[in-house]
Amino acid sequence: MTGRDISETLHAIRERMRAACARAARPEGAVRLVAVSKFHPQDAVMAALEAGQFTFGENRVQEAKAKFPPLRSRFPELQLHIIGTLQTNKARDACRMADVIETLDRPALADAIARAADQAGRLPQLLVQVNVGDEPQKSGISRDAADAFIESCRQRFGTQLVGVMGIPPEKDDPTPHFTYLASLAARHDLPDVSMGMSNDFETAIHCGATLIRVGTAIFGQRASQPARHLTPDL
Ligand SMILES: *Cc1c(COP(=O)(O)O)cnc(C)c1O
Repeated sequence: MTGRDISETLHAIRERMRAACARAARPEGAVRLVAVSKFHPQDAVMAALEAGQFTFGENRVQEAKAKFPPLRSRFPELQLHIIGTLQTNKARDACRMADVIETLDRPALADAIARAADQAGRLPQLLVQVNVGDEPQKSGISRDAADAFIESCRQRFGTQLVGVMGIPPEKDDPTPHFTYLASLAARHDLPDVSMGMSNDFETAIHCGATLIRVGTAIFGQRASQPARHLTPDL
């Protein structure tokens, strides 16, 4: 897609967000858009930044590391969310680089993030990822273990723990999963609920999402490989 196309798709998504908020009687600023740029090149990110989109989601630390740090000096408002499964050995890079890690999903990763944050002198905001459909191939703490895990993360990370995140099974009606995530956040007094992607973000907004993660509807189809990183002259 060209820069012009990306600015148009972003505009269209923002319109749909506004309409969904209005239908749900939620204030317009209640939902933030995380533009998922995984597998798209840095110039796609640049086009989105130039169109006023400052919050991005990436699945892989390596890819994010190549794409984002060079853009920070020019766009200080930039916010990077890690939204993919995080290996413990990537926790250090993630703590240095990310503003938000949405995929805290197991005690071993909580340990690794705590250690990495100490070393980096920097702790990103954290969301606990829940495997809402209890799908064996998906990351996330199980529903059964979610309450205790959230409690322990709160004790450890304090107010940097800001919410929960989840991805409903593809074949399910997402509504009960979204409702569950919103009630889980409310029960723990957490402000953020990250749910909803290109195909279901309006439903997620209706159910109480505060963060939606949208890739394809902004940037088009993804390549089958992570982006090769050509750093444009800044
Ligand atoms: C890729 C991805 C998205 C974006 O999905 P689209 O369907 O392209 O909008 C959202 N969340 C996560 C965790 C992803 O991996």
